[in-house]
Amino acid sequence: MHDHAETHDAAGCCGGDAEGAIARAERICRERDLQFTRLRRDVLAAVAAQTRPLGAYDIAERLSEPGRRVAAVSVYRALDFLTEQGFVHRIASRNAFVSCGHAHSDGAGLVFLICRSCGTIDETTSPEVEHQLGRTLAKAGFKPVSRILEVEGECEACLGRPTEA
Ligand SMILES: [Zn+2]
Ligand SMILES: [Zn+2]
Repeated sequence: MHDHAETHDAAGCCGGDAEGAIARAERICRERDLQFTRLRRDVLAAVAAQTRPLGAYDIAERLSEPGRRVAAVSVYRALDFLTEQGFVHRIASRNAFVSCGHAHSDGAGLVFLICRSCGTIDETTSPEVEHQLGRTLAKAGFKPVSRILEVEGECEACLGRPTEA
């Protein structure tokens, strides 16, 4: 489990580093003997270039050129693959996707901090939350398929920004 402060300084965290994300995905696909097709690569590059979550239609729009339309359904298929491999995460409350440069395990409990002001998303893991959530789920006899929490609010940068008079 990575300490958030430590992973947060690393390149590739929470988007903004498309090259790093592509290189990492390429390596992992090779290791797992999976096809990293041009579309999968393009979709990942589009998502990783942003610090805000991108929807499938947004991505299709970005990848389309005059004479070469990319269908949203193809983007969804690529996103399914990328999500399964852990290269991107789906933000349910936004129905949108962010890239993941972290080294957490597949079933890790994740906490997404979603800023309402600037739209950025910060991803973190919390062993305490994961532990407590596990106990709560066990008590309820509930088997989760994912343990992703989304918290909306204001990020540190926005809180520190002086409000205009
Ligand atoms: Zn992640
Ligand atoms: Zn913010």
